[in-house]
Amino acid sequence: MRVNIQLECTECKRRNYSTSKNKKNTTDRLELNKYCKWDKKVTLHKETKK
Ligand SMILES: [Zn+2]
Repeated sequence: MRVNIQLECTECKRRNYSTSKNKKNTTDRLELNKYCKWDKKVTLHKETKK
């Protein structure tokens, strides 16, 4: 049930992380605070489909 997703920075729109999630347990879009090396700070990253 795991699907691959990518996490996109909401500030610079770059896709910085790829990860996977369990479709069954996580039905909402993932939103994670992660460090963006382009912005050089922690920003909100949202799930995008490949
Ligand atoms: Zn960024």
